Amino acid sequence: MYNKKAIFFDRDGVVNKLVARDGGLYSPRVLKDFVFYDDIKPCIDYLIEKNFLIFIISNQPDISRGKMTIKELEKIDLVINEKLRIDEIYYSFESEFTINGTKKPSPKMLFQAKEKWKIDFSKSFFIGDSIADRDCAKNANLSFILVSRSHNKELNYPVKINTLNDLKDIIDNNI
Ligand SMILES: [Mg+2]
Repeated sequence: MYNKKAIFFDRDGVVNKLVARDGGLYSPRVLKDFVFYDDIKPCIDYLIEKNFLIFIISNQPDISRGKMTIKELEKIDLVINEKLRIDEIYYSFESEFTINGTKKPSPKMLFQAKEKWKIDFSKSFFIGDSIADRDCAKNANLSFILVSRSHNKELNYPVKINTLNDLKDIIDNNI
């Protein structure tokens, strides 16, 4: 019986801030560059109260590209799990998107979580800040919510929030 409801969060740009490097904004490669957004903790606390399972679904291609170590990623995971009650973090280390791979916009990580945790996607949402997130949710037939941050103001989506605090209204109107 697939009856659990879940919220899937992208990580970089949603849970934590992007890092300025080489003239662009990218994922943190070391723990000292990992900074949480202020709105993530109260948002997750609220969702837990509403009995949602909480997941992070994240591409980390810098691992396979040799630009980041697993050890550093594990240090970041410790900090995430200390602060937030996440049920499971799913990472894709693949450098390129392939149809049978895990890298978003492939829906594979979402499907892995669905099978393991018996999730009903019709009662669940994906929260992301990128086109890859949007397409990943679409490929899994999962409702997508775009979080608008300073780095992605040009993106639009019918369901768009300016802070994770606004997720509460969407959830309250759906349950
Ligand atoms: Mg992102």
